[in-house]
Amino acid sequence: MKKETRLVIGCHLSISAGFHKAGLDAVSIGANTFQFFSRNPRGGRARALEPADLERLGDLIRRYDFGPLFAHAPYTLNPCSEKESVREFARMVLREDLARVARLPNSYYIIHPGSRGGMEVASAIELVARSLNEALEEQPGVTLLLEGMAGRGSEVGGTFEELREIIDAVENNSSIGVCLDSCHLLAAGYDIVNDLDGVLREIDAVIGLERVKAVHLNDSKFGLGSKKDRHAPIGEGEIGAEAVLRLINHPVLTGLPFNLETPGDLDSWAREIALLREGYRGVKGKG
Ligand SMILES: [Zn+2]
Ligand SMILES: [Zn+2]
Repeated sequence: MKKETRLVIGCHLSISAGFHKAGLDAVSIGANTFQFFSRNPRGGRARALEPADLERLGDLIRRYDFGPLFAHAPYTLNPCSEKESVREFARMVLREDLARVARLPNSYYIIHPGSRGGMEVASAIELVARSLNEALEEQPGVTLLLEGMAGRGSEVGGTFEELREIIDAVENNSSIGVCLDSCHLLAAGYDIVNDLDGVLREIDAVIGLERVKAVHLNDSKFGLGSKKDRHAPIGEGEIGAEAVLRLINHPVLTGLPFNLETPGDLDSWAREIALLREGYRGVKGKG
């Protein structure tokens, strides 16, 4: 039997006024999930978690039946940097952030695998896996998602094969999954506009669809294979609203949590969420 599922959709929000306030912002724009930075995205400082704030967020999430939240690691996290000090910082952030995320209600932790500079891919993958092993040993219960990247410069994780290799190199990899990003997929050369079925078959063959736990929904300023990571509002880029709607309605993706990382503000995200809800049919293929 095919069963109907609700659309879990939200966007990246600031937690500068606390988690509960971010939850209220999400509700105000029709969202039932949201993404936030686990700590300052360009620095590294993390605010202390306030138990009362988390409790109020937990209440709100249950009341409005939210899907999983996305805790996004800072951009400065680079476990495969050529610099030892940067790798050391990544190990510290991974350990601390996983401990923090373990205290948040129903949240996934999302990281970019990193940039390898002049290092060989195999060595970079080994470094990423080593940091993940260390961090997950302390917090085995947290779901950690590797984000598929656009593949610009020396970015690791721009191909399904690289994501697979990282997962394989982590000893206890049962809590590791993948976060897809529609903009990154197109930029990396995966044609989700004209051949979504083919791209999903390839993900299944290389990584396994059961590892795909979350999706960043972004249009892309640049076209197929551009290797440029520049997000555009839904319907205003090279992907287009129709292809985005096909994506959220695809039987193997329907039911996953989707978060927008589009440029804009609460008003524009409310409009994008309304557009997606309107175009959502929500019939799950498996199940
Ligand atoms: Zn990201
Ligand atoms: Zn991006």
